[in-house]
Amino acid sequence: MKRCVFFDRDGIVNESPGPGRYVLTAEEFRLIPAFPRLLARVRAAGFAAVIATNQQAVGLGLITREALDRLHALFRERLWLEHGLTVDAIMVCPHRADEGCGCRKPKPGLLMEAARQGGYDLKDSWMIGDAERDVEAGRAAGCRTILVHPAFPSSAADWVVESLESLDILIAEGRLIL
Ligand SMILES: [Mg+2]
Repeated sequence: MKRCVFFDRDGIVNESPGPGRYVLTAEEFRLIPAFPRLLARVRAAGFAAVIATNQQAVGLGLITREALDRLHALFRERLWLEHGLTVDAIMVCPHRADEGCGCRKPKPGLLMEAARQGGYDLKDSWMIGDAERDVEAGRAAGCRTILVHPAFPSSAADWVVESLESLDILIAEGRLIL
């Protein structure tokens, strides 16, 4: 069965807009330079790659789903043209926190749906995020988990690393084997 690395979006793929703020335009979608290298490494190791993101901004009416999809299409185009890389899917939870859906992380719905569509073996897959709710979603789906956070907070994650760069080095040196 295929294995997948799930990536949170804000704070992993693109710079986080900060708590309670949202990326609403292409100008605000700023790729984190270390992400393409990490994605390339994950791809080279034979993993599928899926981005799983809470985008409550849709439910709050701050951005339409169509505009969000256009943002993601631009991102995928840039990833391909500038880095020759692809992701298999971008899974979005558009709901507000108060809607009680099953897809908003820390719930595992986005990961489960991606696994159903892509045929991924979740117990041999990984979730990489910058918030504990990403770790919780990954664990609830049965994945192994990596928290990327400069302050090394206490976490249920299998690994806590300070940055994407340090994660890339750990994998490159064979100290963290995906
Ligand atoms: Mg995040």
